[in-house]
Amino acid sequence: MPSSALERARALCAKLSRVYPDAHCELDFSNALELLVATILSAQCTDVQVNKVTPVVFRKYRTAYDYAEANAVAFEQDLKAIGLYRAKARNIRAACRLLVEEHEGKVPESMEELVKLPGVGRKTANVVLGNAFGQNVGVVVDTHVARLSARLGLTKLTDPKKIEPVLMKLVPQKDWTLFSHWLIFHGRRRCKAVNPDCPNCELKELCPSYPKFMKLREQRGK
Ligand code: SF4
Repeated sequence: MPSSALERARALCAKLSRVYPDAHCELDFSNALELLVATILSAQCTDVQVNKVTPVVFRKYRTAYDYAEANAVAFEQDLKAIGLYRAKARNIRAACRLLVEEHEGKVPESMEELVKLPGVGRKTANVVLGNAFGQNVGVVVDTHVARLSARLGLTKLTDPKKIEPVLMKLVPQKDWTLFSHWLIFHGRRRCKAVNPDCPNCELKELCPSYPKFMKLREQRGK
C-alpha cells in the first residue's frame, strides 16, 4: 500500500488506466456546442436521462443562433423531462446569446471565457475543455470523484471546489480529464455510494478504506 497520497495517486492512475482503458465522457455529443448544452443539462440529473433528451434537442437546435432565438416556451417543453428544466433552458438560451454576441456563435476554448457564460461554472468548463477541446485545464469533481477521492485517501476535504486543486497537485496534468472519467466509471460500476463492491474491487490493494468496508460487511453478515 503506497504511504503518501502522491504515491497512491500515481499508482491509481497506472491501475485505473488498465482497468478502464475506454473511459470517456458518458454524455452523448458530436461537437463543443452539444457538449456545452448537455453538460448544463446534466446538473443534478443523470447522463442517461440527458442522453434520452438530447437527440431530439440537437436535431432541432444545431447552432448557437438556433438556441439564442428559440421560443422560450417551446424550448422549455423540449427539456421538460430534465430536472430544473426551466432554469436550464434560461441559462442555455442566455449562454448562446452571449456566444452569438461575443464569440461569433462558437464555444470559446478558454476557462476565462467559458465561466462568463450563464449556467457555466468551473466544472462545466472543465468538461467542455477536456472533452471537446482536449485541454487538461482542471479536474472535474462531481459526486463520484468527491466520494472516491475521500475513500481512496487522496483528501479529507468534501467541498468539490477545494478537492479540485488537491487532485491537480497529485495527478499528472496529462491525466486530469481521464482521471475524472476513471473515478466516475469506478464509482458507477464498483465503488457505489451505498454498499461498495469491495470484495471484487480492482483497487482494493491501493484503497485505505478497503479494511473498513470489509469489516462493515462482516458485521452485517455479508
Ligand atoms: S476497495 Fe471498496 S471503497 Fe475502496 S475503491 Fe474499491 S469499492 Fe471503493
